[in-house]
Amino acid sequence: MTYFHTHILGFPRIGKNREFKKALEAYWNSEISEQELQNIGKDIRKYNWEIQKDSGLDYITVGDFSWYDHILETSALLGVVPSRFKEKIDTINLDSLFLMARGQSSNSNNISACDMTKWFNTNYHYIVPEFTEDQNFTISTNTLFEHIDEAQEQGYLVKPVLVGPLTYLWLGKASHPNFDKLTLIKNIIPIYNQIFKKLKEKNIDWVQIDEPILTLDLSPEWINSFSETYQKLNFNNLKILLATYFGSIEDKIEQINRLPIHGLHVDLCSNPEQIESIINQYSVDKVLSVGVINGRNIWKSDLFKIESNLNYLKNLFGENLWISASCSLLHSPVDLDSEHNIDPEIKNWLAFAKQKIQEISLVSKILSNSEDKNTNTFIIENFKSTQSRLKSNKVHNSEVQKNINLINENYFKRKSDYKERAQIQKNKYNLPLFPTTTIGSFPQTKEIRGLRKKLKDKKIDLNLYNNEIKKNILDCIQRQEKLDIDVLVHGEAERNDMVEFFGELLEGFIFTSNGWVQSYGSRCVKPPVIYGDVYRKKPLTLEWTSYAQSLTERPVKGMLTGPVTIISWSFVRDDQPIKETAKQIALALREETIDLEKAGIKFIQIDEPAFREALPLKKKDWKNYFDWAIPCFKIASCGISDETQIHTHMCYSEFNDIISYIAELDADVITIECSRSNMELLSAFENYCYPNEIGPGIYDIHSPNIPNTDLMVNNLKKALNFISKDKLWINPDCGLKTRNWPEVEYALKNMVLAAKELRKNA
Ligand code: GLN
Ligand code: ZN
Repeated sequence: MTYFHTHILGFPRIGKNREFKKALEAYWNSEISEQELQNIGKDIRKYNWEIQKDSGLDYITVGDFSWYDHILETSALLGVVPSRFKEKIDTINLDSLFLMARGQSSNSNNISACDMTKWFNTNYHYIVPEFTEDQNFTISTNTLFEHIDEAQEQGYLVKPVLVGPLTYLWLGKASHPNFDKLTLIKNIIPIYNQIFKKLKEKNIDWVQIDEPILTLDLSPEWINSFSETYQKLNFNNLKILLATYFGSIEDKIEQINRLPIHGLHVDLCSNPEQIESIINQYSVDKVLSVGVINGRNIWKSDLFKIESNLNYLKNLFGENLWISASCSLLHSPVDLDSEHNIDPEIKNWLAFAKQKIQEISLVSKILSNSEDKNTNTFIIENFKSTQSRLKSNKVHNSEVQKNINLINENYFKRKSDYKERAQIQKNKYNLPLFPTTTIGSFPQTKEIRGLRKKLKDKKIDLNLYNNEIKKNILDCIQRQEKLDIDVLVHGEAERNDMVEFFGELLEGFIFTSNGWVQSYGSRCVKPPVIYGDVYRKKPLTLEWTSYAQSLTERPVKGMLTGPVTIISWSFVRDDQPIKETAKQIALALREETIDLEKAGIKFIQIDEPAFREALPLKKKDWKNYFDWAIPCFKIASCGISDETQIHTHMCYSEFNDIISYIAELDADVITIECSRSNMELLSAFENYCYPNEIGPGIYDIHSPNIPNTDLMVNNLKKALNFISKDKLWINPDCGLKTRNWPEVEYALKNMVLAAKELRKNA
């Protein structure tokens, strides 16, 4: 009987009940000691390892735990501390990590935190390493080695995980643009070799080295440096499992084959098709770890389907075939057993990290035909639930299908092209030159959040809640009028979150009570689950927006979240292509825009902050993405007349490589983030001769420092180098929900003054 090894690439570190978050925040508030914090960490690891062991995984993965982020942890391990912290950090300890991640602000001394950025195409964020030309690397923490000891003391067979040296370098930023961080590889190799030596001393057999950058478009220098680097690494007789995930490595198998490694992990959930090239080119004498259980979604796997897909590989690779999840389970919630309020039928279709580990183990058992009674029961259960999902009328709604089939080319077109629309809108609204507006949200005060909590805890009823929210909307409108803003918003007081709010109102979504996933540091998010056909039973925002409009003579801009963003920040169905789900959402939003227009709302914003992050990792796949993402935006935004002005908002300003696609969206106005780049990034719009109107964020809402009017005027003048004056809007660079009212009023006052100043000289 052939045996197929099982393992995972990593497990969530947040604990079953977000113990991680609670402990971290208590520690930051000096409510618990470091020792208490460390004990909680120990408990979390113990729980994580027990799950792996109890489900029968062969190796327990160690090195995935960090009190903030595993890339920051790697920086600490390698002694990479930016110089601005050096005075504060003598030897690297836990507090040094937090200092780097969070910075320090005190009256006497401000040290800015390290940058944080998205981990590939996930919603996890890592702390960006910073490298100088003469960067030194030395082993500077023992955390990894201590965790290995801890697991070995508990009797586990440990497979440590390390971030690969090239991925680590690639993720960091160089201190100045002319210095090529890849040259640092020669300084890093000796340190990795020391680490390998230490691991060998701990009797480690296999080590997992994560090199997810192998799934990206890499320049020849970076690709070539893989073989150079790996030849120079001295693995000390350790066996190396090179882990890749989030994409395909089919274009790099040749290079990977040349590496002196012992095994390769591939993601067969994101890119199942890459298996063909692997079969053709990868050596069967090495281990092939297949990621067949999706680490980034919450659906139970169809074990029989996986088995039949793996049959060929099983014969080819024999015992060299290992079974795993596609990527670290960091991106899944921890344990489905903690969910008590989900519709049982739907719950039966789900699997969180703990359940995914059981699935990995089951796949291995099915493949080796080692079915005991227990296994058989699980397999039958799995079969029943995957079948029930396929047929359930909770999932499939013929009415939605009918409406989707009605979509024709007219759904993607405004009545007239932009030039004509712009004229119609100009005549109709008579807005001043350089109109002012905001991105949508106004401060989510303690009071507002308190109200929502009271409603949830049933301490107040919906009527009272709604009345209180209305008071906030009234207040928000009055303040904007007083500030003399031209296009107002209702302020989003009724929204907890820009996706959750829509998910709760649309059909086809459910919400978990404990399905948290780490986003960064102690912050976790609880993405909605889209389980079935999405449709709009009743209007979503109509009442709030109309109420706001009833309070003022000035136009109020309606505020919707776009299909790509809703999809990106939710767990989506895996039983139909993502684009089908996006289309359903787009159709629901289209109905909403039509209703808003009928109710006299003349400006409608469709936010798409995730439009760029949803881009596939490889450029060759971009077209495919835009081929559905753009039409979905258009379905949502083209059901209205020429006079209604569509705005969109995106929280970034680097449009160089996607400007033509942004132009295709054909929003009448786009507001973007631009303040941090000094408006320079607007050159993409100029070079492209972008035809529609643009509101480059005039100040950074994320920073407590608010520029004065002169500075804003200066910035706007710079913007006018790139945008003609009849196309320029004036607005902050993102929503204001995280700020307080005094800050907001001060900033917007300056902003409006800047607009007036500019108009004078125009
Ligand atoms: N309308 C949203 C807000 O103002 C947009 C948020 C975002 O871009 N992330 O909060
Ligand atoms: Zn934004």
